[in-house]
This record gives sequence, C-alpha cells and structure tokens, in this order.
Amino acid sequence: MPPLSASALILYRESPELEVYWVRRSPKMSFMGGYYTFPGGRQSEEAEGMTACAARELEEELGVRVEEAELTPVGRWVTPAFASRRFDTFFFLTRCPEGQNPAPDSPELDHGEWIRPVDAVALWNKGTIMMAPPIRYALETLSLGLNDIESRLTRDTRARGGEIYAIEMRKGIVLVPLRTPTLPPATHTNCYLIGGNELIVIDPASPYPEEQVILDSVLEEMVAEGRKIREIWLTHRHSDHISGANHLRDRWKIPVAAHKITAEEIRGIVEVDRFLVDGERVELAGDPGWWLQVLHTPGHARGHVCILEEKRRSVITGDLMAGIGTILIDPPEGHMATYLSSLRQLQELNPEALFFAHGQASATAQEKLREYIDHRIMREEKILKAWKGGIRTADEIVPQVYSDVHPKMWSLAERSVTAHLEKLREEGRI
Ligand SMILES: [Zn+2]
Repeated sequence: MPPLSASALILYRESPELEVYWVRRSPKMSFMGGYYTFPGGRQSEEAEGMTACAARELEEELGVRVEEAELTPVGRWVTPAFASRRFDTFFFLTRCPEGQNPAPDSPELDHGEWIRPVDAVALWNKGTIMMAPPIRYALETLSLGLNDIESRLTRDTRARGGEIYAIEMRKGIVLVPLRTPTLPPATHTNCYLIGGNELIVIDPASPYPEEQVILDSVLEEMVAEGRKIREIWLTHRHSDHISGANHLRDRWKIPVAAHKITAEEIRGIVEVDRFLVDGERVELAGDPGWWLQVLHTPGHARGHVCILEEKRRSVITGDLMAGIGTILIDPPEGHMATYLSSLRQLQELNPEALFFAHGQASATAQEKLREYIDHRIMREEKILKAWKGGIRTADEIVPQVYSDVHPKMWSLAERSVTAHLEKLREEGRI
C-alpha cells in the first residue's frame, strides 16, 4: 500500500515566548489514539493542494482560518512500511492570526493547548507521553527558537521524505521495524531497544542480512554515544522474532536471554545464555531510568514473555497482541484459555502503552486489551452457537463465524476455532 498524502500544521504564537498549539488524538481513535500531534489530516481529493489541505484541516479541527499563502513548508515525513496506515505528510508552519483562538472541535481530538516547545520536550523526556518522530523532531527544533527555522526543520534527511529506521514513540523505547518472513498482513517484526545508558535488545527478528545491517547501524550510533548493550531478550521461539539473534550476539558479544521453555525449544538454533524468569526485575541506568519486569504470558507460545517497563507502565507485548493483523492461537502450541488468562494478567497490571512486535504502538492500553478480550469472547459465543446448531467440525464452523474475514484467511481461522473448541471442551461447555 503506497502512503496517502496528508498535511500537518504547526501553529505558533509569541506571547512573548514562543508557543505551539498541539493536540491529543482521542483514545477512542483506533489509529494512534492518545498520541500527541499537530492538527492535520488526509488530502480530501487528489486535486486538493497540500497547503489547501492543511488550511482546511486546521479550520475543521480547531476553527482557525489561515491564508494558504502564509503557510511555510517545513518538511515532509513518510511513515515507514511497518505501520498499518502510512502517510506522506507535508508539514507547514504558520503564525496564528491575531484574534483567533484554536479550540479542538473534532471527535478525533480530546485535548488541545498552547505549550512552549521546551515544556513539551520536558514532558517527552519524562517518558509519560507518546508522539511520532516528526512531532518530536519539530518540538525539539522549535525549542531552540524560530531563528532560521525553515532550514533547521528540514536539515534531517527524515524530514525530506527519507527513510526512518529507528522510531522512538516514548522516551527510551526505540522501535526498529525489520522486514521478516512473518504472517500477512504484517511484513515486519519490531525489534525494541530499551533503556538509556544501558540497553536491552528485544527480539532481533530478521534473518535477512540487509535488515541486520539496519539494526547494527542503529546500535552502532547508540554505542558511539557511550551507551552499552547489556543483553538480547527473546519474547518467544517463533522464527520472525529470533532470526537475528545469532548475528547480533556474535557482532556485539552479548548474551542471549529467554524463558526456559523457549530456550529448550530453540536449542540448536539459538543458544540461550540465561533464562528469563517470571517476575524477574532488571534496572537500566539512564535518564529517567527504567525498570523492566519479565512476565511469563503463555497462550500464543508456551515460553512467551511480555516485558513491563514499570515506571511508565509500558508493555512490550511480543506476540500476545499486535498493532496490525491478529494473533494466531494454533493448538497444540497455542492454548486459548491460557492466552485469555495472559491477556487478563496484563489487564490487571494497568498498563498505559503497548508496544507490539507487529504494527504501531498503542497509547491506549486498557481500551486495546478490552477490545482484544471482547473480540475473542464474541467469536467464542458464535462458535458455541454454531456447535449447538449441530455443526461439529472446525472447517464447517469457520464460514459461519468468520464471514467478515477474507476466505484466504480461513485456514488460519480454522486453527483458532480448534483452539476455542478445545477451551469450550475443557470448560465442559460442549
Ligand atoms: Zn509468534
């Protein structure tokens, strides 16, 4: 899917200090809900110019009218290929016209305010908010003032439509999407680099040398800054999560850690130096500091772990959940009752943000978890109904229960139905 054209507008005022108007996307939005951003949106039709698009979005979202001629272009950012929705976004900068007061007036936004760029950057540095790379880049650049702003905002190659290799949506959690042989519609697995002065690498996923080079170069840059890579952690045994582990371990001479079950399952493929134990806690030095806790969360795979970052309640979900596509529960490895109890276990931890192995991170963890559990229960009710109606095999149940899913996916859906039937049987409901 090619990226869709979009515009974003950085509205500023000097009163007398420089302030920008930023907004938060409503947590109800399935796409980037809860993220901080600038007003903007998609081109309404192909004929619409990008400045016209920016001006229209600004008026629709904040009720502010600006002259198109007053908009200064300040770069163009393209969403990397790992995301479920991709945009080619043209950024503009403009002074808020005298006498106009922005106020969010859109179901897409739940908050808007004037903020000094330095204060926005300070919030980011605390690790409590989430935003996409172009927003952070703009705020950091603006925090140094308006001097020569056009060229400063476009200095980075990423701000000129260049590739984005490392994505930091929340401070200290860097996502590196790597192309892997994974399950469609996903095409990439996200490797995470967590921490500050000390780093843990989670799921160095890719078997492809050209992708391993990308991860190496991101790590080289971090090491050049004086940061130290401590360990490689694996969330579970699947090849689209572990295939870069041997390369990384040889390249950086760092140990690999995984749950004991995973270690046994991948013996001969990747040697595991240390076991990750449920409840284990690890502190990572740096500013503001990170505490990681290992959570054994079986269901998708027996040795599956999630990683909770305790301070900001962020979870690296592995394949327990995903930001694109669905999670396959494939018996006998996959076990539906166990999977649901792992989701509930995560729910009880009250996480704020979820960082998936596939697709974009979620700033609205509670909503996403509820949605996941409800969705599985909805399917299960339908499967139970089909069973009670006399349909007894998974392949006959699928067309009834998964009529909303493309028939191409039905062979996978059949595995899920089998998993649900197993659970219903265990519970004595069928
Ligand atoms: Zn998996």
